[in-house]
Parts: sequence; structure tokens; C-alpha cells
Amino acid sequence: MSKVKSSNLGYPRIGEKREWKKALEQFWAGKLDKESFLKEMEEIRLTTLQKQKEKGIDIIPVGDFSLYDHVLDTAVMFGLVPNRFEYSGGNVSLETYFDIARGTKGAVASEMTKWFNTNYHYIVPELDTVVPSLVENRPLQFYREAKQKLNIDGKPVILGPVTFVKLSKGFRESNFTSVVNQFVPLYSEILQELENEGVEWVQMDEPILATTITKEELNLVVDVYQKLNEAAPKLKVILQTYFDSIDDYETVISLPVKGIGLDFVHDQGQNLAALKKFGFPKDKVLAAGVIDGRNIWRADLNEKSSLLAEIEEVVSRARLIVQGSSSLLHVPVTVRSEETMNEVLKNALSFADEKLAEIVLLTKGVWDGKETIQEEIAVSSKAIQALNESSSRNNNQVRNAIHQLHTYRAERETPFKVRKQVQEEAYSLPLLPTTTIGSFPQTQEVRKQRLNWRKGELTDREYEEYIKAEIKKWIDIQEELGLDVFVHGEFERTDMVEYFGEKLAGFQFTKFGWVQSYGSRCVKPPLIYGDVSFQAPMTVEETVYAQSLTTKPVKGMLTGPITILNWSFVRDDIPRYDVANQIALALRKEVEILEENGIRMIQVDEPAIREGLPLKRKNWESYLNAAVYAFKLATSSVRNDTQIHTHMCYSNFKEIINAIEALDADVISIETSRSHGELINAFEDKTYDKGIGLGVYDIHSPRVPKLEEMTRNIDRALQVLDPKLFWINPDCGLKTRGMEESVAALEVMVKAAELAREKL
Ligand code: GLN
Ligand code: ZN
Repeated sequence: MSKVKSSNLGYPRIGEKREWKKALEQFWAGKLDKESFLKEMEEIRLTTLQKQKEKGIDIIPVGDFSLYDHVLDTAVMFGLVPNRFEYSGGNVSLETYFDIARGTKGAVASEMTKWFNTNYHYIVPELDTVVPSLVENRPLQFYREAKQKLNIDGKPVILGPVTFVKLSKGFRESNFTSVVNQFVPLYSEILQELENEGVEWVQMDEPILATTITKEELNLVVDVYQKLNEAAPKLKVILQTYFDSIDDYETVISLPVKGIGLDFVHDQGQNLAALKKFGFPKDKVLAAGVIDGRNIWRADLNEKSSLLAEIEEVVSRARLIVQGSSSLLHVPVTVRSEETMNEVLKNALSFADEKLAEIVLLTKGVWDGKETIQEEIAVSSKAIQALNESSSRNNNQVRNAIHQLHTYRAERETPFKVRKQVQEEAYSLPLLPTTTIGSFPQTQEVRKQRLNWRKGELTDREYEEYIKAEIKKWIDIQEELGLDVFVHGEFERTDMVEYFGEKLAGFQFTKFGWVQSYGSRCVKPPLIYGDVSFQAPMTVEETVYAQSLTTKPVKGMLTGPITILNWSFVRDDIPRYDVANQIALALRKEVEILEENGIRMIQVDEPAIREGLPLKRKNWESYLNAAVYAFKLATSSVRNDTQIHTHMCYSNFKEIINAIEALDADVISIETSRSHGELINAFEDKTYDKGIGLGVYDIHSPRVPKLEEMTRNIDRALQVLDPKLFWINPDCGLKTRGMEESVAALEVMVKAAELAREKL
């Protein structure tokens, strides 16, 4: 009997201290020549392979490493270079590769979008202008590299054809099957060459199987994998799924491949239930994803061993591979770097390297018996227990509040129709009031002052004075511009989640806990590790100061509970929605204090509601209900004449319009300029009867838009929307813009509003 194996699905690219990012950016800036750049990348790649080997991983992924994005890698492997970029066939040059990702002066970059329900963004392949061909066998290349340089028999990781095409654009929905079939011979060739090379394992990623797919799509999967099997019958292909359960378990496990990879962490128990109910074919290997590839908590090895024991009742250990639930791309590299972190918390964490160790241990447990890892099991249980028992997770006040949620009113006192009248009288705003989304330019100077303050070179007092001066400067500018509703400008915030995380109890920030978001851009999500609670006012001082300078209303500016949740690593010892409600209660307090201090409009941003949608449609409703409830819990205690605003920066609203409406915000501001009115369609079919601020210009570009462009956007919206409910604003915060261009664009916007009013 061959021994049970440990495996990994993918490893972070960025290096322990983001060496990868630094090399990329130096290369782009022309400070690193191509040869040195490629050398450095190779070193990072080989180091991570070597590390996995040393940790004892049996089946090590190759080809998961990327210079930018693995979907783009797959596209260029097939010569899919949109024809606005330079390309004359054959291997795609490094320059062209980055041009597709980042754009050039003359050609816009390919679109970028979220990789399933993660915060990783991939480059969307464009299939409309080129016929795919196999220009290089990338998986083979990386297999050879690992073999020759490190004597590692790697497992090439390949993004499967069905998922690849599904994630692409530039073809008609009805042609999906024929487009996928175009790729089948190319994939066949890749697999044949791998087989000839003597490769043992191959990982074909088809995460699309963990989403809701149609019967035809499923049939296509069957058909495709039959053909691929005919092409390379000896290759041990593992069909890998992740991020959720698979709906058509029986069909998927019957596919003609040698192994099936299932996620046993994010499947809500569904995969395990299906395994028990339908069994598992005797001629296949089960690659069991038991260690969480998406979150950063130490695994309870006792629990994981029991899970594996349950799985073993169906699949004998000789046919079992132990692995992460997904690639480790979504977690930081190592806890080791967190030298100054509180020990109790640090002990309860597990990043990529620690997860590899957990996988290896569990594998040993399966093979040599649970007794042989008893000591490690005890260590893990103790670490988790220590955090669970710490005061940070036992705030009785928070606990009681969550048990007594029904005692908090989560509905406004009166329906919007009534509030609207009260508010109209209270504010005396013109028709089509103008406002902005919250942030004004975070100039180099602002960031420098904050850095100096953090380093202790600026006293608290000096820093506060500086922020106040910025607020004053921008209140004057808004006055000058003639905007109707002001904001203070968010100069004191680096990031809309971090700012609140630093002030609320229950959050921790890491030093090196970076994960790749897109390209070289990395984010460092906060850890929500304890009970979240309000400690002291977070935004009151700045807002009240701003309000003291003007008679125009100044909006208080908060980040909503779901956005804070979705952009953090969240504790998993209590239900996720309990955490959302804890955050909501803390924000509720802030809202109340703002109100008590005379702030009459409060905006609670929820840009991340949509991206948190579960992969499966059937789970949308419960998610949206919970999101709506948390938002209302945070915002409903205010008086009728306090106006609640919210902001979201996307336009594909149609599917969630009911939930948006259920937020019961008095005004919502949304993105529209980039989607060219697509959004208005969402409102067309439905009578949305609350205030709407349409983003009339795109803030993502430094270009100052023309009056006609804004006017066109406004006119189009007014064909559908009641002018009495209509606000005029940019489509997002101006944080990333320069001062001059911002003022110039806002001037045009105010002018456009005046013109529109005249026409009413
Ligand atoms: N109030 C925030 C800002 O203006 C909103 C940011 C966002 O929507 N992502 O920056
Ligand atoms: Zn926005």
C-alpha cells in the first residue's frame, strides 16, 4: 500500500517581507534590469518550493507562482493577447504581459475582477480578438525547473478549461460550449507532454464546480474531462474544487480523472454529507482539503483528526491526500515574522508556513495513528483554548448584548415617506443637492505627517492641529465651490477599515500579514480576534470640528459592519454574523454620539456588501438578510430628522436591489459613471423610493470631465428617477486624486447641477 500523502494547492508568491512586490515595482520603475528581476523572481519561486519540501509536503505544487496573476498566465500561455497590445505570435514577452495587466499610454489594461469570493483580483482574459493556440507549455516548464534545480517532482497546477473560459469575456453566453471546446485540444497537448515527461500528479483547478452551475455546464465538464482523459490516460489528474461544496457530487466524483479535490472547510458540511451518503469510487484518490486556506487561525488538530477519521470510514487511507481547503495564496506567509505580537494571540494563529506544518502532522496522524501526534494535538488545543478563555473573547457586556439583540430597535421610528418630509423641512436643501463621498485627497504631505506622528516625531497635539488645518482648508474649499452637503475629508484615516479597527476593541494588526490583492498590490487585513466593542468616540472630534466651521450640514462618516467584516480575517469560534452584529452595536453607539453632538447626516459606507455574496445562489438570501440587519442595527436608533446615508461603489445592482432597498437608508450614493447608465436600469424596473446620489463622474482617473459628460449622466438618470430624490456626487471618495484636479472636477459638477436645476 502506498503511503498517504500530504499536498499543497498553492503558496503565497509575495515572499516573507514582500520581496516579490518590491522587485516587481523596481522593475516597472526601471530600477532593476530584466535579467536581475527574473533572477530574483526565480529565487523567490525556488525558495518557496524548497521550503515546502523541507516542511515535509509530499506533493508540491509548481506553476502556481506568478509574476502577476495566474489567470493572466493561463491566457498568455494560449497567446491570448488583446490586439490593442503589441504581439506577433509565439511566446508573449514580459513587456506585453505587464502591458495587458497594467495598460500602456495608448491601450487600456484588461479588466480586473474578483477571484470568486476572495479579495484576490484576476485579469479577465479577452477572447474576442484572438484565436487561442498553445504558445508555451508553462506547467511543463515549471515542472522541469523544480526537477532540475531542486530534484522536486512537482505537481503542475493548471487552471482548468471550463473555469478559465467561464472567467473570460468576449464571447456570447450561447457559445460557451464551443469556446470551451476550442481549448480542449490545447489542454490535451499540455497534458500529453506532461505525461511524456513522466509527471505523476497534475492539479486541474475547476473552482467553478463550487458555484451554482447549469446542467449544460455540468455536462460540458463531463465531456471535456473525458476528452482530456483520452489524451493523457496515465497522468494522475486531480480535479480540484474549492471555496464551497459541489452541488453535483455524484457526477463530479464519476469524472474520468484519478483524483477529486474537495473543500471540507468552506462546504458547510455538504461535501462530507455527500461523501457519506454516496460513497467514493474505489479507483480514485480523495484530496481532502481540511486545513483552512482562507483564514489565519490555528487548526484544532483534534477536530481535524476526527474529520479525517470520518472521511476514512468512506475512503481508505491509501487513497487519501491531506491538504488545505484551497491555495494558501489567501493567507500571509508566516506568523514567525510577528515578533511583537501578544503571545496568546500569536499562538493561536497559523499562516501559510504554519498551515503546511499542520497538513504534514495530520498526514502523519492518518498513517501512524492519532496517538503519534498526541503531543501536537494537545499543543494546538491548548493554544486555542487560551485565546478562547482570554478576556478578549469574554466580554460579558458584548455577549449579553448579542443574546439580547431583540431589545435593540433595528427599524427606524417611522417609514421613509414620513421621515422624508421631516427631513425636507429640517435641511432646506435645493433640488438635486450636491455632495461628495467622504475623502478628499490624501496628499504626500498628509501621509508624511501621519507617518511622523506614528514615529513619535510629531506630538498628538501637533498631529491633531495638522488634521484640523486640513479640515478647515477643505471646508473653505467646499464653501467656495458651493456644495450643499459637506464632509470633513477623512484626512486622519489611512484606510476605511483600519481606522475603525484601531479604535474598536477586538481587533489586532499584524506587521507582515500581507496578502496579494492584485498585481503587486498587497493588503494587510486586520484580525478580528476578540469581542468587538466600542471604547471611545472615533469620529466625533473631527466631524464636530468641521461642522463648527460651517452652516451647511457636514456628514458624519463611518464604515459599515459588513465592509469591516468582509475586509478582515474574522474569528471562527462564533458565528460570523455575531461578529457583524458586534461591530454594528459598536457603530450604533458612535452614530448616537454623533447625533447627540449635533451631526444631522451620517453616512455609513458599505462598499463590500456585494462582494461578500456567497458563491451559491441558494445562500444569498441568508447573507443579505444578515447584512441588512447589521446595517440597520447600526443605523436605526436615530431621530427622524437625522438623515442616514450609505455608499456603494459598484453598479451591478440588479440582483440585490431588494436588499439595498431594505437597508432603509435615506440616501444611497452609488457608482454610475463607469457603467454608463447600466445602473439606472436596475432602478428602472423597480420603484426605488429613497434618495439616490448618482456618481456623475469617475474619480478613478485624474482627468477632469467635461460639463457635457456630467450633464448627459444627470439627464439620463432624471429620465428614470424622481428629481426630488436625486443627489449629485462623484462616484467614490477623492482620496487617491490630487487637489487641483479634484477642485476642478467638483467645480464642473456644481455647474452641471445648476444647469440641471434650471431645466426642471
Ligand atoms: N467614504 C469613503 C471615501 O470617500 C468611501 C470609500 C469607498 O467607497 N471605498 O473614501
Ligand atoms: Zn466608493
